[in-house]
Amino acid sequence: MARNADRIRAVKGTRDILPPESRLWLKVEEICRDILDAYGFQEIRTPIFEETELFARSVGTNTDIVSKEMYSFEDRDGRSLTLRPEATASVMRAYLDSGAVNQGGVKKYYYSGPMFRRERPQKGRFRQFYQIGAEVLGSDHPTVDVEVLEMLDLLLERLSLTDCVLLLNSVGCSTCRPAYVEALQSSLESVASKMCADCRRRTSTNPLRVLDCKVPADQPIIEGLPKILDYLCSECSGHFRAVTSGLDRRKIRYTITPRLVRGLDYYTRTTFEITHSGLGSQNALLGGGRYDGLSELIGGPPVKGLGFAIGEDRFLMAVERSGALASSAGPEVFVAWMGEEAREAALGAARQLRREGIRTEIVFDPVNFKKSLALANKMGARWTLIVGDDEVKRGLFQIKDMQTGQQEELPAGRLMEEMRARRNKSAPV
Ligand code: AMP
Repeated sequence: MARNADRIRAVKGTRDILPPESRLWLKVEEICRDILDAYGFQEIRTPIFEETELFARSVGTNTDIVSKEMYSFEDRDGRSLTLRPEATASVMRAYLDSGAVNQGGVKKYYYSGPMFRRERPQKGRFRQFYQIGAEVLGSDHPTVDVEVLEMLDLLLERLSLTDCVLLLNSVGCSTCRPAYVEALQSSLESVASKMCADCRRRTSTNPLRVLDCKVPADQPIIEGLPKILDYLCSECSGHFRAVTSGLDRRKIRYTITPRLVRGLDYYTRTTFEITHSGLGSQNALLGGGRYDGLSELIGGPPVKGLGFAIGEDRFLMAVERSGALASSAGPEVFVAWMGEEAREAALGAARQLRREGIRTEIVFDPVNFKKSLALANKMGARWTLIVGDDEVKRGLFQIKDMQTGQQEELPAGRLMEEMRARRNKSAPV
C-alpha cells in the first residue's frame, strides 16, 4: 500500500483566489477596463517570461528587483529567462518588436496579469501578485501625465476608494539628475555611517534608493538630505509646473513628496504613487511615472513614455474594506421541484432563465420543498421558483420573494416576462 504522501500546498508567497473573492476581482477588473477604454487604452498581452537581459537593462542591475528578487532560470539552450517582475519593459519591447514604434503618433496600451518578485511575503506583499497597468507611448506632453492622473482619480471615485493620497514628484532627466545624485552622494558620505546597512550599501550602489528607506532611525537624516526638486533643469521644472497646474485646474489633490523616487532606474521627470491609509505598511496602491529613456536602454530609438501599475491585490483589499462593491454571489433564482414531471418543467425554466443571463441554481436530486427553500436561503437566492405536480397540471410556477417572503403564482407562459420585470425593479444582485 502506498503511504499517504505529505499534502502539497501552495508555494510560499503565492495564493489561490477563490469564489466569492474572485467575483469581486472580476468586477474591479471590469470597472478598470471600462475606464481605460473610455480613455482610449487598448489591451496588450505580452509573454509572462522574457529574456533576463530585458529586465536587467531596463529596471537596472542595482535595483532590489534585479539584484535579489527575480525568478530567473536557464532554458535548455542555455539562455537566461525571467518571470516578469513588472510589465512596462515588456510593453516597450513589444512596441519596438511589432513596429508600432514606426507608425508615429501616440499609442495607449493596458495590461493585466501576474508579476513575480521574490520578496519577503507579508500582508499585501506576495511573490506572485497581480497588476493592472497602462502605458502611453510617443508623447512627452505634460497633458499626458495629467490625463492619466485624472483617469486614476476617476477610477478611485468609481470604486468608492476614499482615504487615498496622490504623492507626486519629479526625478529630473539625464541632464539634471546626475548633479543631484552627486550632491546626494556627497551629503550621504558624511552621514551614511549613522544609517542602516542597506543605506550604507546604497550610498555607493544606488543613492536615490536611500530616499526609500523605511527604517525609523534613518528618517530624520533623510529629511535633511538635498531635494531633487531644487536641482531640476528648466525643461524638467517647466514640465512639473505644467503637471501640477493641470491637476490644480481639475481640482485633483496631490502631495508633493521630494522623497518619491520609485525603485526603478528608468523613471524620468514625473513620478507618482497613490497610497491608501487603511492598508498598513504596504500602503502603495499603485505607482508610476514617466520613463523617457527606457526604449534606449533596451536598444530602441528614443521613445517618450508614461505609465502606471496598480497593485491589484492591494486594490482588492481596499475595495473589500470600503464595502462599496459588496454583492451577493448567490443565485438570483433557485428552482425547487418535486416529482418527475415537475423536474422537466423545472429544468426547462432553469434553461430559459440562464439563457437570459439570470444566475440560476437547481438541485439535481429530488429533495422536499422545505429542504429546497432552506438551501435557497443558505445560498442567498433572491427568488425561489417552485414547481410540483400540482403547478405542472395548472400550467404555472410559484415564485417566492426570499427578501419579503411573499409568494405569488406565475403563469408558465409569462415566466420570462415576469422575471425580467422583477429583476428590473429589484436592486442589482
Ligand atoms: P511597482 O511595479 O514596484 O511600481 O509597483 C506597483 C504596484 O504594484 C505597487 O504600488 C503595489 O501596489 C504593487 N506591488 C508591487 N510589488 C508587490 C508585491 N510583491 N505584492 C503585492 N503587490 C505588489
